Amino acid sequence: MKAGYIKAHHQFELRDVTLPELPEDEVLVKVMACGFCGHDKILADYKAQDWEPFGHEFAGVVEAAGAKVTGLKVGDRVVVMTSMFVTSPMSDFVLNGRPDLAYESLVDYVNRPHVEMGFAEKTLVPECLCYKFDGIPDEEACFAEPMGVAADLVKTADIKLGDDVVVMGCGAIGLMALQMAKASGARKIWAVDQSGCRKKAELALGYGADEVLFTDTADITEYPWPKGGVDRVLVTTPPKTIDIATRLCRPGGIIAFLGIGYGERGMVTFDSNIVHLNKLQIRGSNAMPALYFPFVFDMMHAGLVKVDKMITNTFTLDELPGALNAYLDDAAGTCKAVMINR
Ligand SMILES: [Zn+2]
Repeated sequence: MKAGYIKAHHQFELRDVTLPELPEDEVLVKVMACGFCGHDKILADYKAQDWEPFGHEFAGVVEAAGAKVTGLKVGDRVVVMTSMFVTSPMSDFVLNGRPDLAYESLVDYVNRPHVEMGFAEKTLVPECLCYKFDGIPDEEACFAEPMGVAADLVKTADIKLGDDVVVMGCGAIGLMALQMAKASGARKIWAVDQSGCRKKAELALGYGADEVLFTDTADITEYPWPKGGVDRVLVTTPPKTIDIATRLCRPGGIIAFLGIGYGERGMVTFDSNIVHLNKLQIRGSNAMPALYFPFVFDMMHAGLVKVDKMITNTFTLDELPGALNAYLDDAAGTCKAVMINR
């Protein structure tokens, strides 16, 4: 069967591969839809030195179940939680009521020694990482993983009714966080991106942003905020933008951020006096374990978070190399690329 591989600087290729024998606690999943993620892009830009299989945002159908699998059967539709804690042995974090911090007992999909991942015809997934769903099209269900990331960010920011909110970055995670901020009772929402990202700006307005601000054409720290600053900033842009976020807040503001900056890119500078004097909080969000899958499907079923219009590029596995390069070359007209296998 075929599987997609990625290497630094936007190189993609298809390989003929053979999956290993099905482990007894895993299932064989026929991939129906797989989203290309911002983290895949980071890998493609900076990190991966060797060819690697990729794709962790996918939905598929169980085609075979290992001997010890008890909760899934052939024909079940599943999405993959990229990491989940195992309850035995239970760590102090779990026993003290914070399973979200029990990193030491996580089963991790992305970093496990890998066979093929989501950009493939089929793949193997541990049963404990599968979440069964129904009633949502595959190409939308594959947003569950990044939607869990957005949910963690919004819950970390603790948005209150009437808050003014800035969402930095109008990629898929930013746009899903924007919709959740709206549903949480935000009074006004400003979306922030670069002026070249025309499609993302248009989507942000469609999803309920009051205004889109561009960081490359104006100094957004000079914006005339109605309350003198905003109550919450959701940062999905690179870590260095935390500095800007601190300068958008009114006293008591909370900045929630996620964003992987490998090496030097993780280093940030900001004026600690602004944080100190204005009693700001900077809160890290990390969707590990990949919690909130029931919540995000509730959001989709209820129509509170819509993703269909974010899918600007679709392609089949056979078209993957050319399709992903075309997607990466078109920052203005794209938002999310999704592979659909029929
Ligand atoms: Zn992702």
